[in-house]
Amino acid sequence: MDTNQTPLPPLRAGTLYLVATPIGNLEDITLRALRVLKECDVVAAEDTRHSGRLLEHFGISKPLLSYFQFNEARRSEEILERLRRGEKVALVTDAGTPGISDPGARVAAAALAAGLRVEAVPGPCALVAALTASGLPTDEFHFVGFLSHKSGQRRRQLEGLRMVPGTLVFYESPYRIIRLLEELAELYPARRTVLARELTKKFEEIRAGLPAQLLGELRERAIKGEFVVLLGPEAA
Ligand code: SAM
Repeated sequence: MDTNQTPLPPLRAGTLYLVATPIGNLEDITLRALRVLKECDVVAAEDTRHSGRLLEHFGISKPLLSYFQFNEARRSEEILERLRRGEKVALVTDAGTPGISDPGARVAAAALAAGLRVEAVPGPCALVAALTASGLPTDEFHFVGFLSHKSGQRRRQLEGLRMVPGTLVFYESPYRIIRLLEELAELYPARRTVLARELTKKFEEIRAGLPAQLLGELRERAIKGEFVVLLGPEAA
């Protein structure tokens, strides 16, 4: 880490900044994220009301552009047009790192393909928080994200992961968490599993065990919050 840095240069014109925002705890916003949000020309947001509240909390007032308002291609094209005009566009999602199971990746790819500048402003990401606090191997891991909602496809996806080395990381909603644990209990009964719930929030909880154990625990209480599910490798 270079602690002798001269004052940071201003934002660069015509750049798409992918700005990570908190996944629950507002203290997790980074100094650079705040600076980029303050100095950009426009904030492209997944949900303008949600991101508007975040900006307001930090005393930032910026024009917001919803990139869900129109179809994806048109949204990207509008952002690209602004970048071509030299605008500095900060892209945020509802929580965490844009592009990780969230919109953002497509706009970034389109901007790069058009020869425009893209910069990441790293910060909170549920995948990294869960993985590092899980106690499972971090040297090699595979991010699955959300599985398909369709039974057949979901099953094929899960079976296809059998030979994938390292820790497997899934995102899951509270509505399907029981289903995922049932599937893991059936297909991977002996693999150490970690459930990371409500990371960075007041009721953060990280529980480890075999899929069937975690399933039993979860069935006994109301299921709330957002989950990251991690499956250790065969021998872990
Ligand atoms: N872009 C985000 C990131 O960087 O992690 C992920 C967005 S994705 C639409 C939302 C999913 O991420 C949730 O369903 C859950 O699986 C996971 N997630 C987000 N925040 C979380 C939290 N505080 N605790 C546990 N999981 C979380």
